[in-house]
Amino acid sequence: MLIFKGNYLDVEKGEVKKDSLVAVEGNRIVYAGAPEGFACPEGARVICLGRGTLLPGFIDCHAHLTGEEDAGDFAGGKLFGDQLLGAAYQLGLLLESGFTGIRDMSEAGLYLSRATQRKILDGPRIVPGGKVMGITSGHVDLALEQDKAYYNAHDHMSYLVDGPDDCVRGVREQFRMGAKFIKICATGGVSSPTDRVDDVQFSPEELRAIVGEAKRHHSYVTAHCTGYEGAYQALLAGVECIEHGVMLTQREIDLMAEKKVPLVSTLDISLHVANIPGFPDWMHQKALRCRENNLRSIEMARRAGIEIAFGSDYSNSGNTPYRALGKEFLAMQEAGMTNLEAVRAGTVHAAHVMRIDDLGVIREGYLADLVVCDGDPLEDLACISGADHILLTCADGKIVKNCIS
Ligand SMILES: [Zn+2]
Repeated sequence: MLIFKGNYLDVEKGEVKKDSLVAVEGNRIVYAGAPEGFACPEGARVICLGRGTLLPGFIDCHAHLTGEEDAGDFAGGKLFGDQLLGAAYQLGLLLESGFTGIRDMSEAGLYLSRATQRKILDGPRIVPGGKVMGITSGHVDLALEQDKAYYNAHDHMSYLVDGPDDCVRGVREQFRMGAKFIKICATGGVSSPTDRVDDVQFSPEELRAIVGEAKRHHSYVTAHCTGYEGAYQALLAGVECIEHGVMLTQREIDLMAEKKVPLVSTLDISLHVANIPGFPDWMHQKALRCRENNLRSIEMARRAGIEIAFGSDYSNSGNTPYRALGKEFLAMQEAGMTNLEAVRAGTVHAAHVMRIDDLGVIREGYLADLVVCDGDPLEDLACISGADHILLTCADGKIVKNCIS
């Protein structure tokens, strides 16, 4: 048994519970409350938190564990074995930064989710979505020099489908490999060379085919949405989650509120993408439209009471290092969210998006994904903004990082 003594954050009540006791047995929280309400068994390992605060482990709902940034130089880092090992290395960085859960969209995430579940690899809890589905000439059609059949077989993040039948087949291909949800691109995006950010990608017939097939597998579809019209059509077709939501208007916000569709925001990249050096001019022109629009859409989402969940879209590149994944919390603050809203986005709301009922809150019976940061995040979000501030990470009941004792 593992005992944490000190302050913990009740993310639902929105208050730090001072001088408390949280007990973990196996991979579950078995007690959270006043110390006098719990009899510590002999031989329990006691960790005193000092000025640190115990929080639910953080969850990134928009990850692409392609491993490309850490695949090395051999063959240009293009071999899947190297990329998979690069992604496995990155799991350690995520734990270092206090992230005990991710919702991934890549091929590598399928394998890594099984390896971590089998406990042969330490890593966050992974809900895998498989490859991202998009249309020819759309947001994930990124290697125009390649034959399309070759691209679909060899790209480890993207999958191109055209027409309702092909869409159904694409969904089935993802489930065949172990996907737990389906991610599509309903609009264009900043990084794609042949589209506009406000392009609508997928026809209503294609969207219905994808959503219908996912439902038959007791699953759901989430949609990358930069422009608003594609988001609107995706929502009408029954898509159950929106990623980015950069340019949403009141019409889509109202529909999301009505259907209880959450928004996975990726604000750090969205607000700062225009400042990233080295982009080709066409990408820079697209990026310029993001910040102002996203500030507006987040404000509308907050007013409408839409659940906002943490997403990063980081790849461990120089501009998006996993050790600084917590910068997304600071971007939420920059976009007008309160400290508590930001913490909730990365814990309890993200757990809802993961669709894991007993996660994201420090409460008896819940999964023991926990993190200790070096301050009080309700006072200052800097204490959850990066790996250097994370004193301890406990993933599924196992301590995987410990700078306390
Ligand atoms: Zn993404």
